[in-house]
Amino acid sequence: MEFISTSGPLLDIPDDVTLPQFILDSTHPARPVRTPENAAWLIEEETGRRVEFTEIQTRVFGLANALSLKWSIQEDDVVCIFSSNHVDYPVAVWAIHRLGAVVTAANPSYNAEELAYQLKATHATLVIAHPDSLQTALAAAKASGIPTERVIPVVAPSAPHQAVGPHVGELVEYGNAHKANFVERHLARGEGKTKLAFFSFSSGTTGVPKAVEIPHYAVIANIIQIAGFLGLNDKSIPDKRAIRPGDVSMAVLPFFHIYGLVVNLNFLLFSGQSLVVAPKFDFVKFLESIVKYRVTHLLVVPPLIMLLCKHPLARKYDLSHVRFLLSGAAPLSADLSGQIAKMLPNAYIGQGYGLTEMSAAVTLSPLTQGTSKPGSAGKLIPGTRARILKEDGTYGKAGEQGELLISGPSLALRYKDGEKATRETFVDGWLHTGDAVVIDEDGDMFIVDRLKEMIKVRGYQVAPSELEGHLLAHPAVADACVVGVPDEFNGEVPMAFIVLEASAAKKAASNPVEIERLKAAIMKHVADHKIGYKRLAGGVVFLDAIPKNPSGKLLRRALRERAKPSHAAH
Ligand code: AMP
Repeated sequence: MEFISTSGPLLDIPDDVTLPQFILDSTHPARPVRTPENAAWLIEEETGRRVEFTEIQTRVFGLANALSLKWSIQEDDVVCIFSSNHVDYPVAVWAIHRLGAVVTAANPSYNAEELAYQLKATHATLVIAHPDSLQTALAAAKASGIPTERVIPVVAPSAPHQAVGPHVGELVEYGNAHKANFVERHLARGEGKTKLAFFSFSSGTTGVPKAVEIPHYAVIANIIQIAGFLGLNDKSIPDKRAIRPGDVSMAVLPFFHIYGLVVNLNFLLFSGQSLVVAPKFDFVKFLESIVKYRVTHLLVVPPLIMLLCKHPLARKYDLSHVRFLLSGAAPLSADLSGQIAKMLPNAYIGQGYGLTEMSAAVTLSPLTQGTSKPGSAGKLIPGTRARILKEDGTYGKAGEQGELLISGPSLALRYKDGEKATRETFVDGWLHTGDAVVIDEDGDMFIVDRLKEMIKVRGYQVAPSELEGHLLAHPAVADACVVGVPDEFNGEVPMAFIVLEASAAKKAASNPVEIERLKAAIMKHVADHKIGYKRLAGGVVFLDAIPKNPSGKLLRRALRERAKPSHAAH
């Protein structure tokens, strides 16, 4: 059986415009009209600076022109944005798109090795970096053959930096002081479906992180699907529930991740909201900003909900004007959802499920439903179809469990340079999500399990294969398998099962001190080379052999079971 969305109309999706043409230049029936009183598109959290539409347009043109004049950025060039959230982040995204180039957004806390992996995988030729991440950007650029003058700070670094190019603000001025050196990229009818907008990273169902090829059409489709589902122009939705121009939301979700990029940034701007752009997550600042800017809408991940529910400080702030809170990117327990509903009794408490390969959202909790069914990840958004692939290879009906397959206009194209993974994951127009779900008679979807290897720590992806490859480089390690173990705050954390190389094993045999030393050394080996959330916070367990099937495939599930808290004491 096939499940289809029964929620809201699927409005026309233009296939001949780029993302900035859709967001900045065009009207669309799904789009509400802003009035002059609510003209601020972006608000800088730190300073309160309000950036309005005309300024954004000017900045986008200026930056695009400068990128064309100074570095000849053009069709299909790849530019990496390596920055925490900033009001010029969307400016950079849209400027790159106006030139026909592709954006790859990277986690600003990556180390040089991790960033270089992304730069090389996408063949990026220019990096726009936040000054806080500049040293890392320079090291990664060097390792990837990108000249240092092609590293551009988002704002002026606190100490002048000879090596790097002018910062974005200077480039905007430079670009606006010169005649247009580029012809904006326009798309032929249908071209939006193949013209790439983003290389966003995901490890998919197996293996190391891969660049997901996301065309302009897929992102625009997702925005229109969400808009239809949440009824932006539906006047029958009471104002206290609805998303209306002039509402204010926080942008704490990182813009490099698909949820922050498509839903928090592009969708909410399309809907007419003003975004308070927060550079880094700081809980106290977050609470202060909600009050200071009278924030009405919050898009978050489950750990932030846990902080809101459990941190004593949260109760000291008046959050009564928050009337919309959406959780996504990782499971939200029914218990936590109930707690936050009590704390914000007048708010919509919704959950969304999505993935990078679907250019963000797949299901959402309906706005009109009031508090959604406990544990439900929502209903299919318009234009999305689903199948439940059961273990016996047949498709399940309502109430039956199986792997979720998804099809719809927001489907990405493929993994760049990942032919095998593409073949296994993008099958005849259906995405094999690697998530086990049940869809009930009402169309509510429940995420039951993750069948794929991917570990999610606070909503961030961790690819076990990446850590296993790294662990094998440690001299004491002969074999490794990394799995996720449940963790109350983070959702999951990585844990490593390790087979020691013969001489290390001999030394460690019945020597508890040596065992502890080796465990600490292996954990340090990861901590020293990987971003914080990839640390082996779940610990290290030594085994004689990693269980494998006769063809040598890791039996990950067996170890995942073994890693569960009741088994993991040894
Ligand atoms: P990403 O591509 O980083 O967004 O990761 C996508 C994966 O995150 C999905 O395949 C799920 O495994 C997980 N995920 C996203 N949203 C939810 C949710 N609401 N509940 C449970 N898991 C989720």
